[in-house]
Amino acid sequence: QKRIAVMTSGGDSPGMSAAVRAVVRQTLASGCVSYAIYEGYQGLVDGGDMIKEMQWEDVRGWISEGGTLIGTARCKAFMERPGRLTAANNMIERGIDALVICGGDGSLTGADKFRAEWPSLLDELVSSGKRTEEGVKPYRHLNIVGLVGSIDNDLSSTDATIGCYSSLQRICQAIDYIDSTAFSHQRAFVVEVMGRHCGWLALMAGVSCGADFVFCPENPPSENWESEMCSIVRKHRELGKRKTIVIVAEGAHDRNLNHISPTMVKDLLTNKVGLDTRVTTLGHVQRGGPPCAYDRMLATLQGVEAVKAVLDSTPETPSPVICIVENKIVRKDLMEAIKLTKEVAANIEKKDFAAAMKGRDAEFEE
Ligand code: ATP
Repeated sequence: QKRIAVMTSGGDSPGMSAAVRAVVRQTLASGCVSYAIYEGYQGLVDGGDMIKEMQWEDVRGWISEGGTLIGTARCKAFMERPGRLTAANNMIERGIDALVICGGDGSLTGADKFRAEWPSLLDELVSSGKRTEEGVKPYRHLNIVGLVGSIDNDLSSTDATIGCYSSLQRICQAIDYIDSTAFSHQRAFVVEVMGRHCGWLALMAGVSCGADFVFCPENPPSENWESEMCSIVRKHRELGKRKTIVIVAEGAHDRNLNHISPTMVKDLLTNKVGLDTRVTTLGHVQRGGPPCAYDRMLATLQGVEAVKAVLDSTPETPSPVICIVENKIVRKDLMEAIKLTKEVAANIEKKDFAAAMKGRDAEFEE
């Protein structure tokens, strides 16, 4: 009977609990034993009560819960081989050799590294006397399947990550609230949204809320962005707009990679356009609260597919990540998806913004 464990790792996102629920239930429905690893890789390293066998009713109601009910963490110990050795030992102790990990690119990179190292970790457990050759023999092949949980929608190869539409919805709601007060007082608001390397939330919130100007890391504004932004805002005001909304991604910068902060934008709107301007940093409300219907659906369909991918896997198959492309749930090569994602960040660093945008979805094409 195969034993399949699920964990959430890295930053939380709405829909992670729904993904855990789907993995647990599909595992049980497939006649396998289900485990949840609490607190991300930390739970795998700590073992003991952090690795719990799961039953159908343990995840009842989780589909509509925000965040992740099995906890998530950033774990230093797992970055080093001794931590991964302990993690391997904890898994062998329970006979687990399949892991479904819901997290961002860091968590999925760690997972693939673990799989690559797995045979040598087992050898070390045997040579150090912790395990016998006979004891590790049934677990020689580690199965890893990735699910992408992230509000940023920053993984290349998938149209949407679990959580991004809930976060976008929350941002839109917040901007709707801001809109009414901005309209009443004819104010300008600079709204900072999450996204260090990825401007998807900023761009889509801008489109969904009719913002006047948006700052995204992949597509920085022109060299003379200050006057460009001011003249656009001025024009909108002349056309009768009573409010101004400018959205700034956390990682916004100019074409020389100088950070563009909400305060800089506020000062320009105040001093050059003469608007009564306020800054609103949305912060963690963007990550909290229940997942929207799309994220519940995505997490459920992808969680089911992840278990099917585990059961189909052979030692020769590269680790898959479950994606959605043009409304179809598909398996992609995990490391290839991570490589493409890292290339976007590297292209931003190199100031090759055209390549960075190409690495994102079609939405970013000008
Ligand atoms: P987010 O996008 O929300 O930041 P993430 O999954 O990218 O999520 P990270 O902090 O990068 O978050 O990674 C989470 C954890 O995954 C780390 O604390 C570490 O335990 C593990 N991890 C990340 N990268 C590696 C790696 N190269 N090798 C081993 N483990 C890693």
